[in-house]
Amino acid sequence: MKIGLIALVQDEIHQAPAGHPETAHRLVFALNHVMNSDIASSLISYIPLEVEAGTIIGKIHDEKYISILKKTAENGGGYLDGDTYVTTGSFAAAWETAETAVAAVNDIIGGKFKRIFLAGRPPGHHAEYNHGMGFCLINNTAVAAEAAVTNHKLARVAIVDWDVHHGNGTQHSFYDRSDIYFISLHRYPFYPGSGATSERGTGKGEGFTLNIPLPQGTGGEIYLRAFAEKIIPALEKYAPELIIITAGFDAHRDDPLGGMDLDGEIFGEMTRQLVNVANQFCDGRILSLFEGGYSLPGNAQSLYFHLTELMRK
Ligand SMILES: [Zn+2]
Repeated sequence: MKIGLIALVQDEIHQAPAGHPETAHRLVFALNHVMNSDIASSLISYIPLEVEAGTIIGKIHDEKYISILKKTAENGGGYLDGDTYVTTGSFAAAWETAETAVAAVNDIIGGKFKRIFLAGRPPGHHAEYNHGMGFCLINNTAVAAEAAVTNHKLARVAIVDWDVHHGNGTQHSFYDRSDIYFISLHRYPFYPGSGATSERGTGKGEGFTLNIPLPQGTGGEIYLRAFAEKIIPALEKYAPELIIITAGFDAHRDDPLGGMDLDGEIFGEMTRQLVNVANQFCDGRILSLFEGGYSLPGNAQSLYFHLTELMRK
């Protein structure tokens, strides 16, 4: 099937300082690769209608943090922590990407596309309620999930985060809720430190956070076993109305930061399984958001297999 592709590489307004791994090029390179491949004709590049997303972003992030982020950009930029840079354009870039995540949810629920890949940056899954961290400024995945619940009244949204790092910010956003089920596979122990199996949610959210910590060097077989034994059964029980993928490709074996052992096909295989669940429970609806991934060929190969399966009926 044709899938929506929204490219927001933000190469002009969110430019990495020299030597920083979170560059626009890591996304541009991967997009060029897929746009020049045999799947290009099924990728429909488009720009969604602009939406007002301040209310939703305000549910995920503290107003004070948002104004600090804005002021840091206005004052010429700086660092939120040792590795999270802000340039003069970074606030606008992060805001636009988060807003576009909300627009993408509208387009999926509204039936424009069943599946959309948002090729945006800066990344988001480490961004917490009141601070950015780990290259992340605004939590795009959390904003998208919140939009699905608040704007479209969905009762069950599943997030699958396979970025090699634990999505601490996303987990904390919904830790006490059952309407958004957060599932993460990640290297552990590793940055940012959270993501133990014992972190399962709290109160009404107990049992709606599923962490699958994996040791350094884990390969595809173990990832697929986690899907078969834990993730797919959990999703089948939950019966999601929308699946959101936090698609980092930094568990690829070529990644300079990740230290895992996946090849590109595994990202396709994991996607295929989520497509099956989406077809079974939610009319095939999946929103996928680009996240980490710092190897140019690793991202290109992983994205190719991810999108190839995402466009299967
Ligand atoms: Zn990552």
